[in-house]
Amino acid sequence: MFIEKLQPFLATSYENFPKGRTIGAVVLRTTQSETIFRTEGTGEPMCSEYVQAGVADTATIPRLVMTKRKQIAPERRKGREFLRVHELLYPDPKGNSICSLNTNAPCEMCVDCFLYGFAAGGEGAQKSRVWTEDAFSVLPSTELIGDRTINAIFETGTMRDEEGKASTALNTSEYIKPGVHFLDIVTFKDVTADELRYALGNVLLTTRYGAVSSRVGRMENQILGIFGGIAELPSSLELVQGIYDKLATDQREHPLNTGVLIAATQNVISTWTSKRGISVQLSATELDELIADVDRHLSIDDQASFLKRLSESYEPMRKVKAASKKKGKGKEQEA
Ligand SMILES: [Zn+2]
Repeated sequence: MFIEKLQPFLATSYENFPKGRTIGAVVLRTTQSETIFRTEGTGEPMCSEYVQAGVADTATIPRLVMTKRKQIAPERRKGREFLRVHELLYPDPKGNSICSLNTNAPCEMCVDCFLYGFAAGGEGAQKSRVWTEDAFSVLPSTELIGDRTINAIFETGTMRDEEGKASTALNTSEYIKPGVHFLDIVTFKDVTADELRYALGNVLLTTRYGAVSSRVGRMENQILGIFGGIAELPSSLELVQGIYDKLATDQREHPLNTGVLIAATQNVISTWTSKRGISVQLSATELDELIADVDRHLSIDDQASFLKRLSESYEPMRKVKAASKKKGKGKEQEA
């Protein structure tokens, strides 16, 4: 049973102080359509970094990078969609608006605030217990980027205006090709079993990433391994470098076969339980069981009771907060 195996690395209830219980997940993210990651505007190049190709292969190559922010923001939004449906988002401490991301008004009360943290709002801050890393592409970015020049079309839907003149407005755009593999490590610190289910659900159910994600940016996430221990797993970069070494030279080109990639990944991560601080890896069956369990908890029938149970698990903390706030106010009045 997966849950018994992970029990020593899970918290029994939410606590304020870290205790070093660490669950690590290996996530494979595969683009299913053209994808664009960039901060703003057009014409900006894709985010890439020059790094060593493999652990053994010391050549330098540019790798595409999917930054932490690009991963976590859509995933948090996915979970918050469910919280919103079941009315489990709270008003912010000033009571002006319902908890929302990227505003200065986190509610400090909802599942998302407790798990992913928030920056100083009314009452200090909460550290995130879901840690992500930049995800790297396995292959060099030069293999993975396409360039498209688009003639702007007229309102008639054609490239020619009413007088028959061709459109001259050009738009060049770089994109990441479909079928590109990114790998990364997600770390869960001192989470309860239900928090783990919630956070893994967010990773598994998020399918759109990046700029203009409603038109492009379809991505599939797969969990290839779950580990428990007292320390973090090796980094995403070490992982892709290890995989790169395992690929034959003629396999190192796009499109890379997903089956080949998964086999190479399993090969690399199978040695990790002998690394410092990492005690257990779920077997393939246990991992399937865990994913089925996450799906079940978030299914339309079980979602409401699952999220309510998770939200109620923070109730003792909310009471402490409310009490300390009252005390604070009392003092102010005395002064
Ligand atoms: Zn909140």
